[in-house]
Amino acid sequence: MDFESSTHFSHSRLETHKECPRRYLHRYVRKDKRERRTAETFLGGCVHRALEELYGQLQHGRVMPQAEVLKAFAGHWEEGWADAIEIHDKRISPKEFKGVGEECLRTYYEAHAPFDDGRAHEVEKKLSLPLAVDVDGEAGEYVIDGFIDRLSFPRGEPDLIEIHDYKTGAHLPTQPEVDGLSQFDVYDLLVRARYPGVKRVGVFLHFLRFGRTLRPSRDPSADRTGKTLEFLASCIKDVKRDRVWEPRFSHLCDWCEYRDVCPRWAHGEKVKTLTHEARLKDGGVRLVDELAALEEKKKKLKEELKDLDREEAEVRDALLEFASELGVSAVSGTAGEAVISEKEECKFPTKTHSPEKLEELEGILKEMSIWKDVSHVDPHLLLQGLRERRWDPGALQAVSALIESFVHFVKEKHLRLRRKKGEAEPDCLKVSVGRYKPRRGLAHPRRYP
Ligand code: SF4
Repeated sequence: MDFESSTHFSHSRLETHKECPRRYLHRYVRKDKRERRTAETFLGGCVHRALEELYGQLQHGRVMPQAEVLKAFAGHWEEGWADAIEIHDKRISPKEFKGVGEECLRTYYEAHAPFDDGRAHEVEKKLSLPLAVDVDGEAGEYVIDGFIDRLSFPRGEPDLIEIHDYKTGAHLPTQPEVDGLSQFDVYDLLVRARYPGVKRVGVFLHFLRFGRTLRPSRDPSADRTGKTLEFLASCIKDVKRDRVWEPRFSHLCDWCEYRDVCPRWAHGEKVKTLTHEARLKDGGVRLVDELAALEEKKKKLKEELKDLDREEAEVRDALLEFASELGVSAVSGTAGEAVISEKEECKFPTKTHSPEKLEELEGILKEMSIWKDVSHVDPHLLLQGLRERRWDPGALQAVSALIESFVHFVKEKHLRLRRKKGEAEPDCLKVSVGRYKPRRGLAHPRRYP
């Protein structure tokens, strides 16, 4: 069984586990290192290296001219660019990507030149912190590592350190998104541990494509060490306890380097490599296409049924009117007769129709001794309340204990068909196996070679 035996963790490593445990398994536990080289990550790497050189030379009192910074960037680009680097948006050429990098550096340089604000810098700084974590009674000694793009030390302010981080992505986050970045709490923790005299830690995120610097809106003097240590310990526990390594589908799957071994995408990735003819012969493709055709047929029949229901309602109305005009309670036809009867139906208030009335009725019934006879447990509401943490911690704990004692969980498979966007033919549809319960005796009704 796969389990995590490593003792070194970083924020990005722990974040990978939160985002998708299966990806973590492949990358860190099975150590199946695959670098998916994309134009975006390559661009980021080249820009980071050029800025590293700029600030590296500043440490020795030399300001690199802008042209030299751009030349350094171009050098890294020419040296590292390869045709195998993926470009997601085919409308953008490698040359245009290079241009984006140059523009990032130009804008940044112009905003910060002449770099004479009296700050000392340390670049690509690795900081580490030991952390003891008890995982289910087993004491462990771990190390938290962090790589910081740049640390700046403003002269005359020995109690202040600034963390600078460069971002070259095409997304400019909102302030709440910036505030939610736990990465900088970890950096803050590492900086305070490494420089004990520091009382204030400032964080600067440079979004180079936008020429914008954003800062988490928190007090630089606030020491969040306790909370961050708790957060890291809980992340380490999650990783150490994991034996399932569940694949977690998200938009990040588009960038994942393990799609060919991921249960969610492996078949689709395999099918992609086949010729059209071979694809149509694939057992999975045939079953999915058959399912799609059946769903389509059902959809058409449902539409026809709806039309028939509408027609039937019209005929019924006409018959009621006919009978009422004649003053009869049965109308004869050649195929049978329509018999009309009248009965009273109870319409109670519901949550969707008259919720206030329902509440009022419940309130009155609760006061009466019969409440226990007419109320019932709603499992759906209990689970929903628990999931959404609707009640106070005591009640949540009690409900959780009740569910554990009285409820048993059964794993069922569901199957949902998702059509590929823009494909008219039901050829090779995406299938996600969710809940599908085969009927007894029909678990494998058909097999294809
Ligand atoms: S493809 Fe998606 S679900 Fe699969 S391992 Fe990668 S991130 Fe996880």
